[in-house]
Amino acid sequence: MNVLVINSGSSSIKYQLIDMRSESVLCSGAVERIGEAMGSVTHKIAPGSPNEDKISLAEPIADHEAGMHIVIGLITDATRGVVKSMDEIKAIGHRIVQGGDVFNASCVVDDRVVDELTKLIPLGPVHNPGHLAGIRVARQLFPKVPQVTVFDTVFHQTMPARAYMYALPYELYEELKVRRYGFHGTSHAYVTKEAARFLGKSVDEVNLITVHLGNGSSMCAVQGGKSVDTTMGLTPLEGLIMGTRCGDADLAIYPLLGAAKGLSIEEINDLTNKQSGFKGICGMNDMRDIHEAVAKGDARAKLALDMFGYRNRKYIGSYLAVLGRVDAVVFTAGIGENDPVARELSCRGLTHLGIKLDHDRNMAPERGARDIAASGLPVRVLVIPTNEELEIARQTVSVLQAS
Ligand code: ADP
Repeated sequence: MNVLVINSGSSSIKYQLIDMRSESVLCSGAVERIGEAMGSVTHKIAPGSPNEDKISLAEPIADHEAGMHIVIGLITDATRGVVKSMDEIKAIGHRIVQGGDVFNASCVVDDRVVDELTKLIPLGPVHNPGHLAGIRVARQLFPKVPQVTVFDTVFHQTMPARAYMYALPYELYEELKVRRYGFHGTSHAYVTKEAARFLGKSVDEVNLITVHLGNGSSMCAVQGGKSVDTTMGLTPLEGLIMGTRCGDADLAIYPLLGAAKGLSIEEINDLTNKQSGFKGICGMNDMRDIHEAVAKGDARAKLALDMFGYRNRKYIGSYLAVLGRVDAVVFTAGIGENDPVARELSCRGLTHLGIKLDHDRNMAPERGARDIAASGLPVRVLVIPTNEELEIARQTVSVLQAS
């Protein structure tokens, strides 16, 4: 069974076609700059395998429908296509960032789901319109193929009210649903299951702190396999220090910037989401560049790295307090999987809490799930590569089998 996973944004469609019998990726790619003067397409055949092949195109892409036609053309191409016809695509899984508290499970797409996602636009103004465009086009072009929505927020729907409420006037929660939702849920869910497997435990008995460190970063306190707290909030802005997002910051900065700099709410939103984080502190948002700059003695880059490690340690400590017993701290995503220095900074000084890295295991340039903790301590420290697309495809299959 082949499942097409779609992550549709306001001006892009990212996709992966996964053969679920072997859980192997047949092809993946991205159609970007939709609606701009010139669009771009990258399409990889059998990515990560010895037969990997890449096609790059530059052409204007008027809208999501035109973008999806390009994807279908590449997937079914007579010479380099990976399937003979669209009939070989048996299901479509859509990644959705904001499911609010309306959705507490992945579900089959129907008109009601589209209506609810439309109503959720105020809570997900950056992502949900793009997702809806992708769903509309996919339903139009694949009318007979069952489609499933998989939400970044669903995994965190098990958070108790004490963790998801803001201490703002209660009416704001009732009227506008202002609360913490949390994101990266498919990643936290995927690594939770993989970590349980690695530890030889069932998912419902593991207590974990899952640490997703990528361009966007978040941490999750997992109790008995379920999210009980996470660092992102109403939007993905809250919590850890990220590539371009500030994470936790005093809300009173908003009126101060308005008064002192004459910035509008939109400008401040842009500043906190796109001009802050590592980029705001040292001008770079890619962790590899930051390490290079630190090696050359760049004080700002060093400060950004120190702040990042400190904030991560602070949250690991607070989630230890939330959970009591912790089986493992689990690092994942671009930085979490590849950057031993970031992992070391995030765990530094926590030995008295049962967390200590083994220097050599942490530094070893391995891939795949592994334990990097020092022996004899109560908390394991794992590195588990995330795979959000596979999690979406798995959930798509399981929703369809249950329906
Ligand atoms: P996204 O949130 O866009 O999915 P990723 O999970 O791909 O992001 O993570 C991107 C981040 O991972 C970037 O900051 C990049 O610098 C970092 N990264 C990727 N590879 C390495 C590496 N080998 N060492 C350090 N950082 C890395």
